[in-house]
Amino acid sequence: MAIIYHPQKYKLEDRSMENFIDTDEINEMLKQAENPTKEQVREVIKKSLDKNRLSLQETAILINANEPELVQEIKDAARKLKERVYGRRIVLFAPLYIGNLCINNCTYCGFRNENKAQKRTTLTTEDLKDEVKALEDAGHKRLILVYGEHPRYNAKFIAESVKTVYGVKHKNGEIRRVNINAAPLDVEGFKTVKEAGIGTYQIFQETYHRETYLKVHKSGLKRDYDWRITGLDRAMEGGIDDLGIGALLGLYDWRFEVMGLLRHVNHFESVFNIGPHTISFPRIQEASGIEVDKKWMVSDEDFTKLVAILRLAVPYTGLILTAREPAEIRDEVLQYGVSQIDGGTNIEMKGYTQDEEEQDIDQEQFEIKDDRSLNEVMEELVGNGFIPSFCTACYRLDRTGEHFMEFSVPGFIKRFCQPNAILTLAEYLEDYAPLATKEKGYKLIEDELKNYEDLRFKNKLVERLEKIKEGKRDLYF
Ligand code: SAM
Ligand code: SF4
Repeated sequence: MAIIYHPQKYKLEDRSMENFIDTDEINEMLKQAENPTKEQVREVIKKSLDKNRLSLQETAILINANEPELVQEIKDAARKLKERVYGRRIVLFAPLYIGNLCINNCTYCGFRNENKAQKRTTLTTEDLKDEVKALEDAGHKRLILVYGEHPRYNAKFIAESVKTVYGVKHKNGEIRRVNINAAPLDVEGFKTVKEAGIGTYQIFQETYHRETYLKVHKSGLKRDYDWRITGLDRAMEGGIDDLGIGALLGLYDWRFEVMGLLRHVNHFESVFNIGPHTISFPRIQEASGIEVDKKWMVSDEDFTKLVAILRLAVPYTGLILTAREPAEIRDEVLQYGVSQIDGGTNIEMKGYTQDEEEQDIDQEQFEIKDDRSLNEVMEELVGNGFIPSFCTACYRLDRTGEHFMEFSVPGFIKRFCQPNAILTLAEYLEDYAPLATKEKGYKLIEDELKNYEDLRFKNKLVERLEKIKEGKRDLYF
């Protein structure tokens, strides 16, 4: 197949474009940390509880801690740290698949070019508007748009779809933040997409292990490990400083991938002085026509442990968990440090507007395990004392690096994030929640208000809540 575009080659003399993953170095660090003593593990846990970033060597110690007692201590510490750093907010979003044409042959993906069973679709502008309307009617405010890799889905196309999404306003609904999960672009391409007003640009490396990478990416542009690993550096050069990294768990040893993710964070911090906004760690799910060696599948036990380790290693990086995981796993790891989840997810092409009976695995990228509606997820979160948040305030006020603000300005979470989470929850309760959820939600808000000692601030918040009840929308601090 002829490839119509080819991304401009990166310049190797530019330091930020060099591959920074050294397989031998990671293997060596994992080996050196084998069989850590209890004292070593506890020392590392203590360091992270003081909200310090962990080094690769320290993270390798936690990875190698296998005694059940120590694993429990890691999880308990992650729970504590999460509460200290993030409070009980959980940000909610939904994925929206724009097109499943793909030139690549990733062995694990239902969209791969060789999978002839997959029905190929690209949403028209009208289809896209209908999907967005359906998502707004469920209560969503934050979306991530997902694309296969194909000449048709170039930067201009992506930018156009972003603008279309922002333009759809239905009843009280609107999408206030659009994130992207798509193939790496060149610097010019990233500039074009940035101009459309995107939030985060996510690119998952899938596996940081080069040999495995070549094995599972059989053909297409994605086979170029270096082009992919330097993708987000180009995004940064193109002006996008809000980045999401990720590894697809189950392709290679999860221990190596956790180290790779951390190395990637270190790279951004050292070259650009700002870490990625989020880390994703999807586990491979069943999909139409995939060929995956089951050897590296990650057990629930290892999965929950690795989420806790990531929380401890990078206290200030958002962790995303998706509906690939079943509800029980989602509920467990929410406590250990996940800060964003999707809700009411449907990853079929045109999935949000079609009847359930029509759904079909040959129309989706992989199977999801959590198909609860957004409201079911909201109700569960509220019932467990989490504050679901649709807040997009920083991004829209141009407080760039929303994430940076959260942690670098003392008291920011208390004065901005937490009250904004409450305000967006109230909007949801007014516009979309059934009565039972509404009652539970307002009870949670009442309980939260009791925690505000600054009465002037509390009154401002109560005033805004009253305005929302009267019909005003989009109020934030
Ligand atoms: N096509 C672009 C790419 O590959 O980067 C962007 C979107 S791709 C549709 C989104 C992500 O889905 C991939 O990066 C991969 O990690 C994940 N994925 C692919 N197949 C999967 C599977 N069988 N189970 C779980 N996640 C999968
Ligand atoms: Fe295409 Fe992305 Fe699927 Fe690979 S993971 S086949 S690039 S859609």
